[in-house]
Amino acid sequence: MGYKKEYYIKALADVAKLRLTADEIAKNNLLSVYLAHPDIKELDDKMNALGLLAVKSAVKLSGADEIINLKSEYEKIDRDKQELLSKYNISASSLKPNYCCKNCNDTGYVNGELCECVKKIAKEYYYNDLCEKMPLERSSFGSFDISLYPDDARSNMQ
Ligand SMILES: [Zn+2]
Repeated sequence: MGYKKEYYIKALADVAKLRLTADEIAKNNLLSVYLAHPDIKELDDKMNALGLLAVKSAVKLSGADEIINLKSEYEKIDRDKQELLSKYNISASSLKPNYCCKNCNDTGYVNGELCECVKKIAKEYYYNDLCEKMPLERSSFGSFDISLYPDDARSNMQ
């Protein structure tokens, strides 16, 4: 800890981009599966509808039995879906976002604390910044003026 705030802000933005990319890839995979196999989309639509019903039941006091029924129906459809996926040779994990950091799922936080991945990126930004400020790093061999060095150092270089 202890780097400037701007390094963490940049690192968090990077992690957010990774998360967006992973979400986007999973979404595209899902859409192409839906295009090729409308029967899978149909099951997903049913499961989404059941999920909404469960939320509605949850706000009712008498909803407990309903939720249990909805849940078993949901699980049945989910099993059908898993069967279809294996029938079509689609891995279920390809439909879920594959986040770079398994600790924070690329959210940047674990239990309200900055994740190690953010600290690591912030550290890299810190060192990059540090290197840029050092004149030695800037000078390429093209702009290298050998006459500035003492004679014995020069003979070592040649
Ligand atoms: Zn992380």
